Amino acid sequence: MDASETVAAGLKKLREPFPANQISKLCKPTKRDNPKGKCSVCGGWHALPSVALDYVGHAALTDRLLDADPLWNWEPVATNPDGSPVVDKDGGMWIRLTVCGVTRLGYGDSDGKVGPSATKERIGDALRNAAMRFGAALDLWHKGDLHKEVPADDDTREGDKTAAAVAEILDAPDLATLQPIFAEHYRTAKQSGNKAMEKAVTSAYNQQKAKFAEAV
Ligand SMILES: [Zn+2]
Repeated sequence: MDASETVAAGLKKLREPFPANQISKLCKPTKRDNPKGKCSVCGGWHALPSVALDYVGHAALTDRLLDADPLWNWEPVATNPDGSPVVDKDGGMWIRLTVCGVTRLGYGDSDGKVGPSATKERIGDALRNAAMRFGAALDLWHKGDLHKEVPADDDTREGDKTAAAVAEILDAPDLATLQPIFAEHYRTAKQSGNKAMEKAVTSAYNQQKAKFAEAV
């Protein structure tokens, strides 16, 4: 196998469907303030009605990343002066995931958790999100985003559009390139009334601008 074949095989490995025993169920209430009751899906006591979403846990995903590329790696897009990853005002973090030499962006939050477990949740969530950009467990994401209260295909498409816009902003090599790119995506978000995209592109813009300011 030459180098490009190895890369292709590794990336293909990421896209292989996960076996049933590596897929976990997560119950998400349709509304946050639903009354609690006994759930027939997981047997737990939580707000009902809820939808049971399939997801791949941290261990299974890590296993798959190692299978695809033993040298896989991730890094936060931005770090604080003390070396810790920058967490935005929504509690989220952008990462770069590199597999077989290919790097893609991902975003994760702590799903309302606080304290040390919030950081672990945020990392796992960002890795799932970035790995999804490589096609890992894409079939599961298609059915419903773990962080949406009710899964919807439209949201997934909007999410992809936002991720592409953010990626473009974070890839801008200098301030002169950055500004028109940001202006265009911001206008698109405003015009379509997409608040989530508006917030995401603004946060990415501020982050990138800060990076250029640092470099001067
Ligand atoms: Zn349940």
